[in-house]
Amino acid sequence: MPPEPQLLQARHIDAGYGTMQVLWGVDLDVRPGETVLLLGANGAGKTTFLKSLVGLVPVRQGRIDLAGTEVTHMRSSDRMRLGVTYMSELGVFPDLSIEENIRVGAQALGHPDPGARVDELYGLFPVLREKRRAAASSLSGGQRKMLGIAKALAAEPKLLVMDEPSAGLSPLFVKEVIRILGDLSQHGISLLIAEQNISFLEIATRVFVLEGGRIRFSGTVAEMSDNDALRRAYFGLK
Ligand code: ATP
Repeated sequence: MPPEPQLLQARHIDAGYGTMQVLWGVDLDVRPGETVLLLGANGAGKTTFLKSLVGLVPVRQGRIDLAGTEVTHMRSSDRMRLGVTYMSELGVFPDLSIEENIRVGAQALGHPDPGARVDELYGLFPVLREKRRAAASSLSGGQRKMLGIAKALAAEPKLLVMDEPSAGLSPLFVKEVIRILGDLSQHGISLLIAEQNISFLEIATRVFVLEGGRIRFSGTVAEMSDNDALRRAYFGLK
């Protein structure tokens, strides 16, 4: 059987800021339909890596392919056209209304019918329709995260890259976000999620653990929990 095609393939990525190198030879791949979790503590380099994938931090060494096209030094907007969307920790424009935020997401790629796309997304997130004219800043943390996801989905990405979707949320809202992301993956969207919250293992098909800018582990959730040192470090178990 030929190997399964990769949606995203990052090989030996080095990146950093000025004289500081943050990433050291990072390898990571996402296959179509997968939910890949990039786990790591504060400062491990998760954000830097995600930004290097979407063209917001330059890659110094290594190669990135997206949907079969090399994108290592491609502009961010061109990568979006190939089907990758990035959701930062903040994820929304607080001063714009809910509807304006979603439209910005749809227009980023010149969606042929942004109005229809906005309606589809209200179907997925009815609470956003109710508040469509309100400023994003008026939403609760959980609702704001929903809006961030809706805005990112508006561009109809093949791969949604998310930086700490749990940031600033109560455990109850974290559960809700995990449920929403689980639903999305049922709809065939591939996800790459950077997190320090291990609750996201629930929806992960594979896990990469980043420590000090290096990949320490990659494998399935079961393989991760079979590894004594990782189990102690991440699950707090002996
Ligand atoms: P966090 O969960 O805190 O966002 P992270 O795993 O995403 O952590 P990064 O934000 O990628 O980690 O940071 C990795 C290292 O790079 C840290 O030492 C950080 O201080 C440094 N760093 C991040 N952004 C910059 C920047 N714009 N300029 C200089 N150094 C930076």
